[in-house]
Amino acid sequence: MFTIAIHGGAGTILQSMLTPELESNYKQGLQNALDAGYEVLKQNGSSLDAVCAAVKSLENNELFNAGKGSVFTHKGIHEMDASIMRGDTLEAGAVAGIQNIKNPILVARDVMQYSGHVLLSGQGAQEFALSRGYEQVPNEYFYNQFRFDQWQEIKETDDFQLDHAAAQQKGFAHEEKKFGTVGAVALDLQGNLAAGTSTGGMTNKRFGRVGDTPIPGSGTYANNHTCAVSCTGHGEFFLRAVVAYDISCLIEYKGYTLQQACDIVVKDKLVKLGGEGGLVAVDAHGNFELSYNSEGMYRGAKNSEGVNIVGIYK
Ligand code: ASP
Repeated sequence: MFTIAIHGGAGTILQSMLTPELESNYKQGLQNALDAGYEVLKQNGSSLDAVCAAVKSLENNELFNAGKGSVFTHKGIHEMDASIMRGDTLEAGAVAGIQNIKNPILVARDVMQYSGHVLLSGQGAQEFALSRGYEQVPNEYFYNQFRFDQWQEIKETDDFQLDHAAAQQKGFAHEEKKFGTVGAVALDLQGNLAAGTSTGGMTNKRFGRVGDTPIPGSGTYANNHTCAVSCTGHGEFFLRAVVAYDISCLIEYKGYTLQQACDIVVKDKLVKLGGEGGLVAVDAHGNFELSYNSEGMYRGAKNSEGVNIVGIYK
């Protein structure tokens, strides 16, 4: 049995906010990413490769806040975070605040495999990427009119905002301006789990702000004995709640099912803390959860038993 589940961000995503055309583009983007990961798993490829294929596909799609579609920081640039983890060895790799790189998820994987470290940040992460032969792309590669306008609205303020919660909170007219962080989790035919997450973070973020995405245990976690988890939402809360590892712990130490663990963490603990968002998770048996406490989450799952789901709203 093999399974892949993905997300493209969670937040205030209502049907009234998306035109039918945009909705269909989002769904196609999710389906393409699912298919990319599924193909790898079907060919007996590793969960790690499947996660990379799915996340890369979402990073290359400007609809989502990761890679090409990354939001603008206060300085008008793009600083991306990504992490990846494998469930068999508990190895992890991550980059924080990396600039001018097309696919941060691939660099995170290289950090895991070749750097001897877990997390590289800023200039150092970029130097490492270049030393590994990654192409440096110009700032224009990330340019997107919607995101630029989104940033203009709050640029002069101290405000920063979660990409896909912006319109509702700020009363923006252009409500199609909601996009999201991306992530994937997978179980392969060898029984190995993996998880990966990638983001442009929050619009107008300052001071080298880093969220949960590149932090193993918070935004991303995988352990063959329990589950693989990739999170999306208000990173500060996901950091404090150590969300991904908490799900794994509830399975490992309390014997909870994946569903019970997700329900408690996402729909109870995070809600009490004030943390809006969600996650995708798959357990060692191939069960998956697409769990969120927000209005919606761009999400999808596909497995060897014929399941193929793509969803946006509640
Ligand atoms: N969790 C991400 C962050 O806080 C944002 C998101 O998921 O949209 O950077």
